[in-house]
Amino acid sequence: MSQPIRLTKIAETKSQKGRATFASTTIPAGSLIFSEEPILTMDATSETPHIDLLASFADLPQDLQDLMLDLTAVDPTPFRHLIWKEFDVRTNGGWWDIAQKYGEHTKRVLTAFNTNAVAQHLGVQTAMLNHSCLPNAYAAFDEARGELTVHAMKEINEGEEICLSHLEGGALFAPMKERRGVLVLQRGFMCLCDACMEVEECEGREQECLREKLRDDLRNLIDKYQRNEATLMMNFGKRGHGGLDPDFVTFLGEVAAGVVELMEKLGLATIDNLEWYQYVFHWSRAVNDDEMAREYQDKMLRVVCMCAGEDSQRYHDMQQDASGAKSAAWNKIAEVRPEHSRGGRHSIMKTAKLGLAEEDEVE
Ligand SMILES: [Zn+2]
Repeated sequence: MSQPIRLTKIAETKSQKGRATFASTTIPAGSLIFSEEPILTMDATSETPHIDLLASFADLPQDLQDLMLDLTAVDPTPFRHLIWKEFDVRTNGGWWDIAQKYGEHTKRVLTAFNTNAVAQHLGVQTAMLNHSCLPNAYAAFDEARGELTVHAMKEINEGEEICLSHLEGGALFAPMKERRGVLVLQRGFMCLCDACMEVEECEGREQECLREKLRDDLRNLIDKYQRNEATLMMNFGKRGHGGLDPDFVTFLGEVAAGVVELMEKLGLATIDNLEWYQYVFHWSRAVNDDEMAREYQDKMLRVVCMCAGEDSQRYHDMQQDASGAKSAAWNKIAEVRPEHSRGGRHSIMKTAKLGLAEEDEVE
């Protein structure tokens, strides 16, 4: 499906970032910015995914090959080792031998793919979006339409750069140095995004950057949750009434809700972090707090809508799930629901007041 109105323009920047994509008009949150068919896809199930990728590249028409070769391509050393393993099966030589066999652009094609692909798919328009540790757009591969889609995660102003994140899972919550380390290692580039630069500029000052401080709070909350969930699982079955202590369950729900609250505040809530919404959903079900469970189900739907779009299969499936009482999530919860917590709304609704600095209340 092609976009009737072009919402983006590509321009050279004066910074080290080089080329960047900008909004040519104000783009409302949740809008599909563009979608495109990937020109290359890596089959992660293959034994020789990189060799297969080179074969696919050789099949591309010349203009697409040229576009691909023009993309930013950096060569992170550990990545090279990964490829080496695969090539060593078939060759004993180095890059030279590989290039002899698979063409002079071998290294460039593989590194350009690694630097720019999203979920193992490379689209030329998507590749023109720079990374940011504070992204305003989300790229996903929509299986049903066989296309990469890029949606606005928040309202993007005219002239604002459109960025997505190449950090996976919790890495987006990590401190600046760690984020940069991961990106150098996995993608081969040093992150110069606004979030990283802001921290760099504030470094050495006594007052820590607010955003980085919030990320720190977020990590502490996640730690707190994981520590206590492990305790709960350890004691599972040891207590009466199905083995779940409702106070503990409520406490876990509160901590998870605190994580969600901070993720949203930081603008880092994406499909990749839906598990935190699910935790609150599960634990509120376990203490029969249906209102809270519904609220988090709605929140989850909103996140999926922002990242994958209202017309995506993922959104559709989730909506079905939310309306069908017989969903897998529902059944799972029904199994662990403690008998004696019926009607207990407990303090799970106090989420907003959850003190980040407070000590664990559970012995
Ligand atoms: Zn960054």
